Amino acid sequence: MSKRDYYEILGVSKNVNDKELKKAYRKLAIKYHPDKNPNDKNAEQKFKEAAEAYEVLSNPKKRSTYDQFGHDGLNGQGFGGGFGGMNMDDIFSQFGDIFGSAFGGSFGSSSSKGRRKGSNLRVRVKLSLEEIANGVSKKIKVRRLVVAEGVTYRNCSNCNGSGKIVQIINTPLGRMQTSSTCPACGGLGKIIDKKPSGADKNGMVSKEETVELKIPAGVEDGMQLALTGKGNYAPMNGISGDLIILIEEAAHKYLKRDGNNLHYDLFISISDAVLGCNPEIDTLNSKVKIKLSPGIQSGKILRLKGKGMPSIEEYSKGDLLIHVNVWTPQSLDKEEIKFFENSRKKDNFKPKPEASNKTFFDKVKEMFK
Ligand SMILES: [Zn+2]
Repeated sequence: MSKRDYYEILGVSKNVNDKELKKAYRKLAIKYHPDKNPNDKNAEQKFKEAAEAYEVLSNPKKRSTYDQFGHDGLNGQGFGGGFGGMNMDDIFSQFGDIFGSAFGGSFGSSSSKGRRKGSNLRVRVKLSLEEIANGVSKKIKVRRLVVAEGVTYRNCSNCNGSGKIVQIINTPLGRMQTSSTCPACGGLGKIIDKKPSGADKNGMVSKEETVELKIPAGVEDGMQLALTGKGNYAPMNGISGDLIILIEEAAHKYLKRDGNNLHYDLFISISDAVLGCNPEIDTLNSKVKIKLSPGIQSGKILRLKGKGMPSIEEYSKGDLLIHVNVWTPQSLDKEEIKFFENSRKKDNFKPKPEASNKTFFDKVKEMFK
């Protein structure tokens, strides 16, 4: 199977800078994130592919090798090569770099060195655009599994506390020794001796706790934040799991978000379009008065620099794009009808779009570049 070009995967040009590269990867990582696409193999493939491309292109040494020799160059050096070794945990650990230190952390819940790790908890947090723009601190209630009071342990008699079962089996090739995890204690070497009523088989009970979340400004729908150690506790002095917070963005009354930019639909009357006007726009944190010159065209887009959303990864803000829509009256009295009948014949009422009046499609193209 031939591999796709890394620049093509991320949709960037060959001379892309670090900032743009990060941005492109971030977009894809959010789009194809497994939490957003459960059981979608194609999305998972795309997610991994993007992570691999970013892994190479974000590393100056690997990137220059790739630029000179392509995928083959990387294979020769021991990186790249299908990236079978890059698992989901590796990809998530990259996220610390991409989404800021609040993200990433340890994912997965495998046990390490005989200590069991508690499972992760996941909660959804719905935020308004205002909360996202300013960053917010939230107190949420979480039910965590904690070790019940009064639980005692004793050595597992099945494995004599080693956590392993060693078996000798006779095969045509000779005697072989196999070692497997003790099924009685799950490899911990200890089992529960006494537990209070109400505790589960691991001696755990569910307890409600209040957790304070500090959510940085600029998060996006679908992003996730990991609070290390705030998930379920593990039995027998294990390592607590993580609390994973999935960010959900509530729709705003009149602002639409596109990355760090905000879009606002402004409706003005025909009279205001003809004579000019100074409408007041509600931005996220303030009101802004804008000036529309006489003769403004419907479809015009005004850009207010820096009045959009903050970026989570850099000290910059997006823009607020104001789309001007001219509202046509739905009913007219006799006098008004007469006026417009007359204006039909007038030359200055006839549309004369100039080259400078960009078409709708040109504007859309410009907005997304
Ligand atoms: Zn055992």
